[in-house]
This record gives sequence, C-alpha cells and structure tokens, in this order.
Amino acid sequence: MAGNLLFCYMAGSKKIQKAGVENNDIQVVGARVHNLKNVTVSFPRNQFIVVTGVSGSGKSSLTIDTLFAEGQRRYAESLSSYARQFMSRMGKPDVDYIKGLCPAIAIEQKVVTRTPRSTVGSMTEIYDYLRVLYARVGKTISPISGQEVKKQDVQDVLDFIQKGKAGDKMVIIVPFKQQAKRDIQEELNILLQKGFARIYLRAANATAKSATTSTILRIEDALAMTKAEITKTIKAHDVYVLIDRLVVKQFDEDDIHRISDSIGTAFYEGEGMLWVEQNDTILKTFNNKFTLDGIEFDEPSPNLFSFNNPYGACPTCEGYSQVLGIDENLVIPNTNLSVYDGGVAPWKGEKLVWWKDQFVKEAGKAGFPIHQPINKLTKTQVTQLWKGLGKALGIDAFFEDVKAHLYKVQFRVMLSRYRGRTNCPDCEGYRVRKEALYVKIAGKHIGELCAMPVKDLQVWFAALKLTAHDAQVAKRLLIELEQRIQTLMDVGLGYLTLSRLANSLSGGESQRIQLTRCLGSNLTNSLYILDEPSIGLHSRDTERLIKVLQNLRDLGNTVVVVEHDEQIMRHADHIIDMGPLAAHQGGEVVAVGNAVALIKDKKV
Ligand SMILES: [Zn+2]
Repeated sequence: MAGNLLFCYMAGSKKIQKAGVENNDIQVVGARVHNLKNVTVSFPRNQFIVVTGVSGSGKSSLTIDTLFAEGQRRYAESLSSYARQFMSRMGKPDVDYIKGLCPAIAIEQKVVTRTPRSTVGSMTEIYDYLRVLYARVGKTISPISGQEVKKQDVQDVLDFIQKGKAGDKMVIIVPFKQQAKRDIQEELNILLQKGFARIYLRAANATAKSATTSTILRIEDALAMTKAEITKTIKAHDVYVLIDRLVVKQFDEDDIHRISDSIGTAFYEGEGMLWVEQNDTILKTFNNKFTLDGIEFDEPSPNLFSFNNPYGACPTCEGYSQVLGIDENLVIPNTNLSVYDGGVAPWKGEKLVWWKDQFVKEAGKAGFPIHQPINKLTKTQVTQLWKGLGKALGIDAFFEDVKAHLYKVQFRVMLSRYRGRTNCPDCEGYRVRKEALYVKIAGKHIGELCAMPVKDLQVWFAALKLTAHDAQVAKRLLIELEQRIQTLMDVGLGYLTLSRLANSLSGGESQRIQLTRCLGSNLTNSLYILDEPSIGLHSRDTERLIKVLQNLRDLGNTVVVVEHDEQIMRHADHIIDMGPLAAHQGGEVVAVGNAVALIKDKKV
C-alpha cells in the first residue's frame, strides 16, 4: 500500500512539515472529530489534494466528518427555515473553526438513487439531452408503411404556390362533404352562411392529363336549381369548396397575408387537409395533421420520451421495463426436452397431464413436431406452443385456466411457482410507450441507443450524419451529449449502457458517474470531496480518472481525495498524510507537501 509506505518513511524521519498557511487556503483549526487530535491543517485552494494514511487514521474524520459536514451545515443555515426543515438536523463538528470554506460537495461511495427507475442515462443527464434531441430532430416512421410521418403547415402551401410560374392559375380547395342528416340544399346554405360563395367541380376521376373540365359554380346559382339538378351535377363531379383562387405573380406583403389566411381557413375547413390545383391539372394535397396510414401519431416532445412521466412511460410496465408475468424459463426449464417428453414443466401430475395429452394429440395431428426438443422448434412453432394450434390448447390457455381457479389454494401455489419478472411485452423493455419508439434518428429509436454500451454510442454519434437544418438545430445538444459521453469514457465507464439501473452499479461506478455530473455542471469555486474513487479501477482507467480530477481543479475547484493509490498520489498537487497509526494512535497530521517533495525528502 503506497499510503503505508509513505507513512512509514515519514514516521521514521520524524520530520513533520508545517503547512504554509496562505490567506486563500481553507484552514481547519483544532479539529477533534472522532480520533482527531486537535488537528490544524490547511487545504490549498484550487489544488488537487490527496489525504492518505492507514485505515482508521482519521482521513474520513478530517475530510467527510469535519470539512464536508461543516460545509453542509453552513449551507443549511443559509437556507430559509422552511427549506431547513427538510434537511436532517446537522450537528456542528467538533472543530475550533474553519476559515475560507467554500460550498462543499461530497461525492460518496454509496449509490444515491432517487427513484427505482434511475438509470446511468438519467444520472448523467445524457438521457435528458437525448430526449430533447429526439423531440427536435427525430423522424416519426409509420410502423405500417415505413414512411416518414410529416406535417405540413401554411408555409409549405405558400412555398408550393410561390414556386409556380407567373401566370399559373392556382385554386385552394377542400372536399365538399354532405352530412348524412342534411340534404344538399341545407349543406350549401350552411357553406353560404360560413362565407363561402363558390364550389369547385372537377370531372370525376380526372387525371392530370384529362382534367380540363373543372368548373366553378356559384352556390347561389346552385341553390336556384332544382334539387334533382343539383344532385345530378354533384354526382358527375368531384366536388370541392373553393376557398380561394389566384394567379401567380410577384406577390406583395398584402397578397401573402391574404393567401396565408386562405390556407389557414382551408386547413380548418378541410379538417387538416387541403388541395391546391395548379392550371386545372396538377392536384397537390397538403396535410397539417401528424397522420399517416390512417394513424394519428404523437408529435415528438421531450416528455414523450420520458419514462418517469405518465405521458411517456409505457402504460403496461409504467416505465419499469419489466412486468410480473409468466417466466418462460420457469415454465420450460429444460429446452432439450420435447413437449412429448415433458418439456412444459407444469403439464404433469395426475390432473394436469391432461394439458400435455391434449396438446400432443391435437397439435400432433396439425403437424406440430411433438418429439422435437423445444430449443429446436421454429419461432412460429414456439408461438403455437404458447398460443395453441387448431384444437390444441397452448400454455397461455393453461395459465388462463389456472388464473380462473385461483380460489383454490393449489392453483395459487402453482401460479406463484411460475411467476417472475419478465421483459415488458409492450415496450420490449425500452420503458417508453411504443409511440415514442416510432421516432428515429438515423434509423434508431431512443431505446436502442440506451441499450448500446457507451463506447459504441460514441462511435454512433461520431458517424451520425444529419441534414444541414437538423445539424443546426441539434448543434448545441450534440456538443453536450458528446461531452458527457466522453467524460464517461474518461472515467473508464465506456462499457456501461445508459439503460443500466443505477441501483445495480458498484460504489466506485456510482461515484465516478456523480463525478461526470459535476464536470458537466461547470460549478466553480467549490470544494469536492471524494472517497477512494480509484476502487475497482485498472491502472489505465486510473490515469483517466486523474485527468478528470485535474480537469475539475482546472475549472477553479478545490479537489480533496481520500486515497491510497500511489498513482493518484503522484499526481496530487498536495498530500496530507494522516497517522501515525489507527484509532487512538492516529488522528494526527504526520506530513504535508507535494508528492515530488515528499519523495525527494526520502532520498536525503
Ligand atoms: Zn413496458
């Protein structure tokens, strides 16, 4: 242990340096928490400081229980009494005084999870940036046709009209709809009352080439006809309500205002759809609803991608990714067995073997390979085993029957034996509702990105190509994302996925993730206290961790690390060695200085 080596040498030399106190330093005077023996020591500001010593020498008493505790207490005192009541009562640490203390942030070993849904993605805020990214540049892809769902607005229609050549005739129309309860004259009267004066008659089934027979009919004239005449005219044509007609020219501001108004009216009257006919031939459709293939999609918003929010969370698993269901692995524990050989575990015993017998008989007749080991079945055959085939009842039907008899204790026991946490069938474990998973960037939905190890995600982002417009919209977000991903890589956590649950992380992993958050927050002039962040790190990752700590210092913070690791001590600006031994034989500062100086001393 490097800490011990350093201590042995210093204890042997009996040479105790006095801290050079500068006004700017954080100065602890007369600390007596736990075994501390009236310790007076300085922590130079804006430096990377390692506090080392044998276990029990008072390292944590000095850093966490004195320095951090006092920092927290002062912070609490600065809050209103209302806010204070939510903080646990904090005793004043036994210390004469601490001078120059700045806001203290302890990055502790223990895992802090705010909700059981907390993940690496939410802890690092990467998920929050991804949500906004998906809301801004994600493309909604219809699961039916695989086409992108697009919504058009007034500007899209205006652009189309303005692209026409000077002299082109344009009409803005919406389909004429007759409600079942109203007759044709009533319907025309209603249009007239709404302020529409004309209907537009297109030859039924007109094509681009043949359509030359469009006519405009004044509603007043139509109302002057007999009912039979109107009905005949209407039947012979595709009938639209004429909203506006215009001839393309260099439009001035007033023109544009009027046309925009007409387009707005048309979208309203057409319930989100309008048509523009150009020169009696081209008929172009515009849709300002977010619909495709007959499905109305949710327009992406950051909340749509939030599994902590009832709007975005998968309704089946409420965002937890798993549901309590029938655990396949318990139902079919040995997939080497065939159905005939008893592969379906609950289908045995005097009564329940009936289920196996009926399946073997009926499914066998229907061509199901009852002697085939279950792991050799095709996907379709496995589905048949669960859902049933022909007259054969499957496993699902079996469990439904069990559930119908839960008043009998043996059925309750039976059910509990096969229940387990299984991946949510609706969101496939991606936590958000399926509408959110229709939204993709470069072919991937947000859940897929979260299932990738962070190092692969970094590669994916590096290769991501966006359109010029999207790149502009996403620019700031991508910088934030790339920075945070890089920091996770820097602290050696590139193997984690964003969907990894926070409460499954080790203490060291959790601490390093908290560190990435501090780096992202750009807080300066703060005191960071870390407890053995190198635990569980390989030496290459320790190098990276040192860079992160130095980075935190370079942002203008004071970084205090309780540490034994020699590699980290070598990079410290300042070392405080506690000892000489543990418990009542410790509690003193035995040496201070920088690693280089301490090592030089050794050679004297
Ligand atoms: Zn779900």
